[in-house]
Amino acid sequence: MVLSNFSNLTLTNPLELNRWFWLAYVDAYEWVELPNVLGMSTYADGGILASKPYVSGGNYIHKMGNYCQNCHYQIKEKTGDRACPFNYLYWNFVDRHRDAFDENGRVSLMTRKFDEKSPTEQQAIRDSAERFIANLPRGLAK
Ligand code: SF4
Repeated sequence: MVLSNFSNLTLTNPLELNRWFWLAYVDAYEWVELPNVLGMSTYADGGILASKPYVSGGNYIHKMGNYCQNCHYQIKEKTGDRACPFNYLYWNFVDRHRDAFDENGRVSLMTRKFDEKSPTEQQAIRDSAERFIANLPRGLAK
């Protein structure tokens, strides 16, 4: 869940994520992995298997586990270098894909929530996300 969420929020090509799972997990059999990665977790099939994009901000991860207490990042901070990256990456994702969110009744509320934020906060979200994604190491062994 966390790996797919992170991949979606950092605008990673679903096929690259699929390949990464193949390389990283010895039990990543194609018949299980393809529908799970391209369907369920990345929404790359356009919604055949899942009814909404599989994304969340840091608060959801915080509620589901206890990793945040010892993390370098601050779960309560929304933007900036110490803020939990899932927070601003999530809202950046919603903003970037607002047309798809607006069409889906299960998540259309999120674009309205983003629009309620001040222009300064919106810009800080975009800036933090752009910086984080630009500095992400990319690439796999071919
Ligand atoms: S604060 Fe750290 S552990 Fe918690 S969701 Fe953010 S990055 Fe993950």
